Amino acid sequence: MRPKATVKAGGGEWISEQLCVPMARTCNLYCVYCQNPPKGRGAKMDRVVAAVKRSGVKAVSLEGSGEPTAGADLFRWVRALKAAGVRNFMLSTNAVALSDPELCRKVEKVADYFTVNLPAADRETYRKATRSVKFDLALKGLANLKALGAEKKIRLFHIIFRENYRRLPGFADFVIKEFPGLAFVNFTFVRNAGRVGDSAGIVPRYSEAEPYIKVALAKLKLKRIKAVVQNIPLCRLGGFEGFSFEFQRWRRGDRILEAGIAGKAKNAACGRCALAPACCGARRDYLKIHGNKELRASAKKPESIRPELF
Ligand code: SF4
Ligand code: SF4
Repeated sequence: MRPKATVKAGGGEWISEQLCVPMARTCNLYCVYCQNPPKGRGAKMDRVVAAVKRSGVKAVSLEGSGEPTAGADLFRWVRALKAAGVRNFMLSTNAVALSDPELCRKVEKVADYFTVNLPAADRETYRKATRSVKFDLALKGLANLKALGAEKKIRLFHIIFRENYRRLPGFADFVIKEFPGLAFVNFTFVRNAGRVGDSAGIVPRYSEAEPYIKVALAKLKLKRIKAVVQNIPLCRLGGFEGFSFEFQRWRRGDRILEAGIAGKAKNAACGRCALAPACCGARRDYLKIHGNKELRASAKKPESIRPELF
């Protein structure tokens, strides 16, 4: 079980006492960038229930090494956690199983919030990302949630990797057209972990992705759709720093990096940078592939950055 995290709930309020419950143990996709691949075993229910009772936590995120809806025990977990006092459920999902309207209806009834991993808005890029032909099922799952009035409960989680970064503006167009009422879009730069295996064929350079990220963020901003970008150093977001997830955490007084996330690597540029307290920095696993030549120390103070809608 991962430690507590601070998250935003479907209604827009912040929940600061959420327990991440890694109950998933298998998956119905095989993403090329999967950072936490399924191992065939998930958290032990009795231990989680005991921990929930001990801590009195009222909100949990159902997630894990895999897809929570791919196992047969999702509703058993919900029942056990409810009996232990949990009131708010967040579900991390790829939405494929939610293409079944009946299952979607049942899941929507219990989940207050959905983090939906969608790496593409087109079939071919989705195939490259997930090594599956389930693009239409994922879209159907999202459409089912929308039809149930749950669009505002959706956070679209879009991992930026080699095969999709040029399509980020198109992804923003897709969101604007299909899901303008969602909670927010969470772009996250791929981490070199799990299946990524030090591959420059999966991890682009920050500087390659930067212009496309900025166009996508600008498009969403113009339509007043909330968006954040995670795991990108502030020096690669010039003019768009207010969209940084870590900067938003710094503003709230939270730890910059979420619990369980590897820390930033030490390097000379960051050592003399005024933005360092509010920046995710570059991780050691990124530097291993691309080095640190893209990092630019700044004299700008984090207090001078204007936060974007979040
Ligand atoms: S990234 Fe998520 S959806 Fe993709 S294989 Fe890993 S657990 Fe499954
Ligand atoms: S130089 Fe380092 S601390 Fe400064 S913005 Fe870049 S990554 Fe962040």
